[in-house]
Amino acid sequence: MIPYGKQNITEEDIQAVAKALTGDFLTQGPTILAFEKAFADYIGCKYAVAVSNGTAALHLSALALEVGHGDKVITTPITFAASANCIRYCGGEVVFADIEPDTYLLDVNKVKQVLQSAPKGTYKGIIPVDFAGRAVNLEAFRELADEYGLWIIEDACHAPGGSFTDSKGQKQHCGNSNYADLAIFSFHPVKHIATGEGGMITTNDEKLYKKLLELRTHGITRDTTIFENSVEFAVGQPVNENDPYPGWYMEMQTLGYNYRFTDFQAALGISQLSRADQGLDRRRAIAKRYQQSFSGKPYIKGQSDVIEGHAYHLYVIEIEDRVGLYNYLREHKIFAQIHYIPCHLMPYYRALGWKENDMPLAENYYKHCISLPMYPTLTDEEQSFVIDKIATYFTK
Ligand SMILES: *Cc1c(COP(=O)(O)O)cnc(C)c1O
Repeated sequence: MIPYGKQNITEEDIQAVAKALTGDFLTQGPTILAFEKAFADYIGCKYAVAVSNGTAALHLSALALEVGHGDKVITTPITFAASANCIRYCGGEVVFADIEPDTYLLDVNKVKQVLQSAPKGTYKGIIPVDFAGRAVNLEAFRELADEYGLWIIEDACHAPGGSFTDSKGQKQHCGNSNYADLAIFSFHPVKHIATGEGGMITTNDEKLYKKLLELRTHGITRDTTIFENSVEFAVGQPVNENDPYPGWYMEMQTLGYNYRFTDFQAALGISQLSRADQGLDRRRAIAKRYQQSFSGKPYIKGQSDVIEGHAYHLYVIEIEDRVGLYNYLREHKIFAQIHYIPCHLMPYYRALGWKENDMPLAENYYKHCISLPMYPTLTDEEQSFVIDKIATYFTK
């Protein structure tokens, strides 16, 4: 059986987790901080906050940016539902804008049209997605966001290690938060770095970082410099003028959650991260081979050419008879997948007023897209088998 994506757990990974399990901490131990630091270094940002999954990362990001009731936020319909749902968790309103037909990414010009059609201040933020691993040009989004006073959350779940080149010729890694306010990642087994469940928020903004730490753990702080209640209250008996807060004391100052990551997952994360570049190279080699095999085949429309900086979480092609190929591949135990059913046409979002033809390019893309097997341990033989089966399907 050949799936579309798969984790790669090595003996090293197993040893790392075993070691963490025999340590003093199962959760909230020092390995989490070490993983956060290593991840921030890898991505090239100042701060990273590990959380229980990518969806929690999105939810906490929306909370940290104070998304509230009725706040309007723009995102793409071609993404996993969580990119949009995080706004709904906060009572906000999701506004979809269409994709670019050749990159499948949220179209900055479509976003601009949405913004221009309402008075300034109507919209609060944008959530672009590095779909399939192709980096969004966040410089263009930042310019627009600044014009309208919006924040940006980059959903970089597909793109750790991916990058785009900005107008100054600088390589900008996905999630480095040079243009976005916050970026989020997932460590679900199909993603580049697998920790079972897991997620990360990255930022360069210290205030947001501190807020995220608090929100991750019930809104509780132990920072004595910001306590609101008096020392006397905290101690529970009369105190002298300069008495400190007692050791047990902490305050819940805002409504937070338990979205914590665990120490043994962090150990797995660190071990996985050490092989991230290797995995990325392999993904790019697989993409190149698909590209070469499909070039000149009129029945296949690729996601443009092999692109520098593409992290290849997915290798997507567009074809006419999608269901035919999908079923044919399954008969041969090749489990290709479809990414994504347009989010605005999920029954939940239809019930909020979205309907067919609202996003014609995304809807057309959905009719033709199929994601082929793409993961570092896919062997050359397996890939040849996939390529052969596709060729056979179209010549039979
Ligand atoms: C996987 C994914 C998420 C959610 O991550 P989980 O860890 O599964 O909660 C969000 N956005 C995108 C684009 C994803 O691919």
